[in-house]
Amino acid sequence: MTTYLRELASRLIGCDTVSTKSNVEAMEYLGSHLESHGFRTAWHRSEVAGVPKADLVAVAGPPEPDGLIVSGHVDVVPFIGQPGWQRDPLRLEIEDDRVYGRGASDMKVFLAQCVEAAAQLDLASLQRPLVFIFTSDEEVGCRGAERLLPVLPTLLSEIPQPRLAWIGEPTSYQVFHTHKGVAIFSITVHGLGGHSSMPEQGVNAIAVAGKVIETIGRYQEELRQQPSTAFANLFPESPYTTLNFGSIRGGTAANMIAEECTVQVSYRPLPQGDPLEAYREIARRVQELDLRDYGSPHHRARLEIGEAFVVPPLLSPRDTPLESALFSRLDRKTSGGAPFATDGCQFARAGIASLICGPGDLDQAHQPNESMRREAFENGARVILDVVHTLCGVGTA
Ligand SMILES: [Zn+2]
Repeated sequence: MTTYLRELASRLIGCDTVSTKSNVEAMEYLGSHLESHGFRTAWHRSEVAGVPKADLVAVAGPPEPDGLIVSGHVDVVPFIGQPGWQRDPLRLEIEDDRVYGRGASDMKVFLAQCVEAAAQLDLASLQRPLVFIFTSDEEVGCRGAERLLPVLPTLLSEIPQPRLAWIGEPTSYQVFHTHKGVAIFSITVHGLGGHSSMPEQGVNAIAVAGKVIETIGRYQEELRQQPSTAFANLFPESPYTTLNFGSIRGGTAANMIAEECTVQVSYRPLPQGDPLEAYREIARRVQELDLRDYGSPHHRARLEIGEAFVVPPLLSPRDTPLESALFSRLDRKTSGGAPFATDGCQFARAGIASLICGPGDLDQAHQPNESMRREAFENGARVILDVVHTLCGVGTA
């Protein structure tokens, strides 16, 4: 391991880039290092709820077609309040064969490895462009990439937009070409409040929310009983759209009729058809419900179904040059379905085929005491250099 890699990873993990916070310091640190290795940088800056955010594009090589994008996100999931931490989440620690810190696997170490690889590249020998894209707000719905992709051609300037992207999310170096999408929405039941001793004068929103939950639960049961044969191999644990109740909030006191109850629902649609199909089906079914509660025949509750926030699924083409390069470098023969969503869905909308493959460990992402294998930590830059060599025709200094 080079001391340079350790310095980069340690500095990145030391920046608190939980998605609600600014990522600008970490991003400018990455940008200044890439510039010092000869990359041209371009920025997309935005402000989210008053918090400044930056997305970074760093380019090297000639303005030829068929370059390669190597991408990762700099934000991490929260650690404050997450039980189980026995280490400082913002401190890189290397112990035995593991490297620890928030973002070790997901996915700051990969970004550090990109910069270490950049330092070792002989840029003059690049025959096709190499583009690093580092994003914000991936963990809150791939929103950084969503903001960045429409302006990418402008930021790339004379470089033709590459058609392949390698996203180094934690997969223990398995290769994934597809993942499900995510849709999130809430359903609010508006009842009619009152004294709990007189249920007939009101409508209990919690009781009606129970019917809503039961209806959605039955739909999940149906989906589970009709697994997709086309996706049985890619998503062996759940080859169907999975549903989840994320939170429920309602009521005020034991002696009051609950006036309002909100249930947050999310689901993960397969990468086929319209990702909003389940949303519409749920809306249809709950609107058919008898919206009276069990204690009151007179009044009906009102449902408010929130708009769905959607992260699209990803289904990249197979047999691309990037797939061959990753397969041969990592000794892989198959590509599968990732159990999480990625920025790849936003690249796909811009016509860029993405593969998900990275040094971090799948089971370490978002965990307390997050870590990765020391061997993957030390060798990652070499893997990047070899893949870049294959796809961009570069020699190493
Ligand atoms: Zn990630």
